[in-house]
Amino acid sequence: MISPLMPTYKRADLAFERGEGAWLYASDGRRFLDFAAGIATSSIGHAHPALVRAISEQAARVIHVSNLFRIPQAEKLAERLVANTFADSVFFCNSGAEANEGMVKMARRAQFLAGHPERTDIICMDGAFHGRTLAMLSATGNPKYLEGFGTPVAGFKHVPFNDIEAVRAAITPQTAAIMLEPIQGESGIKVADPAYLRALRALCDETGVLLALDEVQTGVGRTGRLFAHQWAGITPDVMSTAKGLGGGFPIGAILATKAVAVGMTPGTHGTTFGGNPLACAAANAVLDVILAPGFLDQVCERAALLDTLLDAVVADAPEIFDQRRGLGLLIGLRCVPPVGDVQDAAQDAGLLCVTAGDNVLRLVPPLTVTETECRDAVACLARATAALKDRANIKTVLEPTP
Ligand SMILES: *Cc1c(COP(=O)(O)O)cnc(C)c1O
Repeated sequence: MISPLMPTYKRADLAFERGEGAWLYASDGRRFLDFAAGIATSSIGHAHPALVRAISEQAARVIHVSNLFRIPQAEKLAERLVANTFADSVFFCNSGAEANEGMVKMARRAQFLAGHPERTDIICMDGAFHGRTLAMLSATGNPKYLEGFGTPVAGFKHVPFNDIEAVRAAITPQTAAIMLEPIQGESGIKVADPAYLRALRALCDETGVLLALDEVQTGVGRTGRLFAHQWAGITPDVMSTAKGLGGGFPIGAILATKAVAVGMTPGTHGTTFGGNPLACAAANAVLDVILAPGFLDQVCERAALLDTLLDAVVADAPEIFDQRRGLGLLIGLRCVPPVGDVQDAAQDAGLLCVTAGDNVLRLVPPLTVTETECRDAVACLARATAALKDRANIKTVLEPTP
């Protein structure tokens, strides 16, 4: 027997009736603090009045017209992204994987038009996650995700993360771009050293290789800057983003410098749904919140509070937590017992979290989370920790830190 809904996810036995801000209300009457946020996607919380209004009003006017016509909502969104980033031009699509696919196409096309058709290889990082399409499976490189899906797409090679010499050694005359996440999300909230990002920028400038950043998860305010690379004081040549951009409405974007975007003339790339009036109305409403003066400072304040509170939880429970990592509101707690057990205990205590690789519990609240909600979430986690400690024997997958 197979379920009508294809079983590609191991789902928790919970369904939600409604949400409000950082809270989700389950159909069984329970309510949860949502530090999963639809995997770092519900960036301005559930049922944000401005987002609800923007979507409702746009849906009542026109949802979709295709890219055969001008779309003022998309023009406005692109202008705002250009005004607030390194980019000169933006392409809208529907998801993170699709944005990454387009980013790789753009990098190759830019090299082609610069007189380097041989430059097609993309250097990626061990532990990367770039999505589930055929080419992005190869960019991700994880054998677990590739198994059974045929010959990997050619042109992607992998080097250790945070190792500049490994990248330098991997560059050949065929290299088009270096592609990486400023913080590896799915593989365990691993932060790229700012000095490493600056060295990558310099290496790219020196060799004519393009720097392509995957900010699908780290973008749109998640780390307390509009995009995470800004913390390192560098700019990429091309960048993807998606998750938080629509506040839960599906939209992705590829942001590029003029030098990269110049090859993307009519007919070179396309999408039926991408950048439609409804998606762009949603993303504009999200940007209204995130670009408001002081909002990103508030994200940094919430992050600093959570860091302090979580450090205390980690220090109190070395048999449960090994380490806190992350930046801004992209937080990882490396667990000692299997992370799934910690996630379940947190859920029983009223807190929803996501897991990540490396036995990491991922906390990614809406960026609009309040100070009280941060304190409440940490209290839930402390209760979960106490419940786990009370168990006769805690399973251990990691040795606790001595
Ligand atoms: C989630 C994610 C993707 C894939 O995005 P989808 O919208 O699921 O296709 C790609 N890259 C990173 C860094 C992600 O976190």
